This record gives sequence, C-alpha cells and structure tokens, in this order.
Amino acid sequence: MGYIYITSFGDVEGRLLLGTARNVKEIFGLGVRVSSVPFPPRLGFNPKRNQYHAGTLLRYLEGVSFPNLVKLLAVVSFDLYEEGLNFVFGEAQLGGRNAVVSVFRLHSEDERLLFERTFKEVNHELGHTFGLTHCQDPRCVMSFSNSLSDVDRKTRFFCDSCQRKLSAALDLHSR
Ligand SMILES: [Zn+2]
Ligand SMILES: [Zn+2]
Repeated sequence: MGYIYITSFGDVEGRLLLGTARNVKEIFGLGVRVSSVPFPPRLGFNPKRNQYHAGTLLRYLEGVSFPNLVKLLAVVSFDLYEEGLNFVFGEAQLGGRNAVVSVFRLHSEDERLLFERTFKEVNHELGHTFGLTHCQDPRCVMSFSNSLSDVDRKTRFFCDSCQRKLSAALDLHSR
C-alpha cells in the first residue's frame, strides 16, 4: 500500500495538519501519514522579499524518503514565492512526487474557512503531482487560483473530467 506523507515546516497547527490528512485520505484514497521532516533554518529564504522560494523547498523534499512513499506534501506557515510571481499559494512537481502548500495567505477569522482553503490548495497541488494540469471549470479544484477569492470560488473536489484522470493515475498506485 502506498502512502501520501504530510509534513509541516514552520508553525502549522496540529489540528490543521490532522484535518488535512483526513481530507487527503477522503479525496485520494491512499494511506496517509503525518510525519516530521527536519527543516534546515532559513532554507530558501530570500531576505530581500521576506519570502521563501518554493522551488528550493521542493528540491529539498526530493532528498527525503519514507517507507512506501508515493507523494510527499509539506504544509508551511511562511509565505512562498516563485520567480516572476509576487507569491504562490503552493507549488508541485507535475507528475512528480513532491508538493508544498503555504497557509500564510489563507488565514481568516473563521477557522473553518482556513481549513477549507488549505484543503483546496492541498488537493490542487497533489492533483499536479498525479499529472493533472489546470482546469477551466471554475468550481473544479484544479482551476488556477491567483487570489483568495479564486480559492473561495472553487470547491475542494475534482470535476468529472479531472476525477477520471486522477482515478486513472491512482489506479497505477493500487495495483
Ligand atoms: Zn496549479
Ligand atoms: Zn477539472
């Protein structure tokens, strides 16, 4: 049985991680484990931008291994960027193994909203690791989010077309 491992960097609430794990189990159906991975202080930190470079974190995750590891997701508390973009909610290796999601811009007075937004961005980035690209259906979790209102507009679920692609990719892991 393959596992999706979830880890956190920075100060991420345990309840949020556990909620994320439940959501990932429900949506992807694989085993899910929450495990810790050491975080080298200031890895990927850019003092000029006061943000962390998402690609650097993804490369670091490549060196991490766990038993029966299928995907590795890091949920981080700090703000992420990529060259040419002011910020990113997350980043993933398309059809690859690793993904990172930041909760920095997802906070709300309403805790349920933070949880819901986190689940959407997590499902989106994990969707990329299973080879899914952006979707034009504005309610599909694979639609692109450029702002919080984009995040709030979409659901945490895959549209029928994306779900078919995801199920085909997941089949390869359950054989
Ligand atoms: Zn995306
Ligand atoms: Zn879709």
